[in-house]
Amino acid sequence: INYQQATFLTSAPDIKALPADEGIEVAFAGRSNAGKSSALNTLTRQNSLARTSKTPGRTQLINTFSLDEQRRLIDLPGYGFAKVPLTVKEKWQKSLAEYLMKRTSLKGLVVLMDIRHPLKDLDQDLIHWAVGSDLPVLILLTKADKLGPGARKKTLLEVREATLAFMGDITVHAFSSLNKLGLPELEQVLDLWYGV
Ligand code: GDP
Repeated sequence: INYQQATFLTSAPDIKALPADEGIEVAFAGRSNAGKSSALNTLTRQNSLARTSKTPGRTQLINTFSLDEQRRLIDLPGYGFAKVPLTVKEKWQKSLAEYLMKRTSLKGLVVLMDIRHPLKDLDQDLIHWAVGSDLPVLILLTKADKLGPGARKKTLLEVREATLAFMGDITVHAFSSLNKLGLPELEQVLDLWYGV
């Protein structure tokens, strides 16, 4: 797929407002500030497709992008931002779990985690729900440029080892929007999920 052809489709305040559950979609999720917007911009070669936010957690909208008639990218709101009220967090977790369980067109989940702080509780919850819904998961260890090659490799192996416990279809790659490390691997996994 030519990911450069991605265009903004809609911003949905909740799962119910998403486009019709048809075709194939892949969702991106991660803690606020994990580098999700940067990764989406890197994937689509567009500098401002997903706005890289300076105020983490403020946008609770689900942004959707069209790749072609049949295929969508879904940018889920960042989670784990301390200032969001607990009731809002709980409501969001519930609808996120529901989305992962019920969305027929959803064919894979990309979970972004800062390579220096991988597998936080909410990341693990998310992976757990995805595996429970038989969804394949791609973990991107973002900002990999922040570590040297040795530390990067070590973390990658540790996270791969730790994800075995989830007993699911989980792939882990290091990624950097700064130097494009892991971009071919990301495209390869997405192409597979999109059935190319
Ligand atoms: P989001 O909240 O998950 O969408 O995260 P953003 O994409 O807005 O990134 C959060 C911060 O991390 C910003 O200051 C980015 O410039 C920085 N960042 C994102 N990706 C990378 C990366 O690959 N390398 C480095 N060094 N910084 C990054």
